[in-house]
Amino acid sequence: MEKGKMIYEGKAKKVFKTDDPQQFLVEFKDDATAFDGVKKDKLEDKGILNNRLSAIFFGLLETEGVETHYVKTVSEREMLVKSLEIIPVEVIVRNIAAGSMSKRLGLPEGEALNKTVIEFSLKDDELHDPMINHYHIYAMDLAKAEEMATIEASALKINDILTAYLKDKGITLVDFKLEFGRHQGRVILGDEISPDTCRFWDSSSGEKLDKDRFRRDLGGVIEAYREVLRRLEGSE
Ligand code: UDP
Repeated sequence: MEKGKMIYEGKAKKVFKTDDPQQFLVEFKDDATAFDGVKKDKLEDKGILNNRLSAIFFGLLETEGVETHYVKTVSEREMLVKSLEIIPVEVIVRNIAAGSMSKRLGLPEGEALNKTVIEFSLKDDELHDPMINHYHIYAMDLAKAEEMATIEASALKINDILTAYLKDKGITLVDFKLEFGRHQGRVILGDEISPDTCRFWDSSSGEKLDKDRFRRDLGGVIEAYREVLRRLEGSE
């Protein structure tokens, strides 16, 4: 497998072509950003931890019958993935009110929701990822109705799988963000699943084990990511 031209560089990852048009290589960086890139830092080894954690979560989902873009881990910072045409819609799944939802709706952070909430935002940094709904998605032709049906069913299934798995490790899955893409006519899960894109709270102490430690200057960011990995690997 040859590492080819870089085709995308985001805040936390780079994506490269390979000699196989059906596969890309994803490289996880140590850069951390928040508030649309206003707050920036390098967190040593974050890329290594997120590569490992994403591989574990994608592997679990595949075992449970959810197709993801994950193919295999090729180095400590790189994974081989199926090439995707990313659908520019961020899919947010929430079990407990936190972050922007708490602010927007005046719900205290930590309040359990009676029903899982799915939200969508347009993946566009310049516009600050504005929240959108199905009408916008179809009006802008971002995805077809059948694709959105697949995405929503998959997001709820992923929530069930991850919630149960993490509960066992003493971690509460508060909310998370997913991205999907098209590969050979199918819509499958892409991007990453890591403490950068999920809120993980210790089930007994409520301690935050995710990127909120960086966003809110709580310290111990990498230690928290390591703790999540320790819990997941500890029982494999
Ligand atoms: N999230 C993300 N990328 C984004 C926005 C949100 O990964 O661009 C994740 C975030 O880590 C959290 C969930 O999606 O787990 C919900 O985030 P929220 O809308 O509360 O925004 P935030 O408070 O993180 O800005």
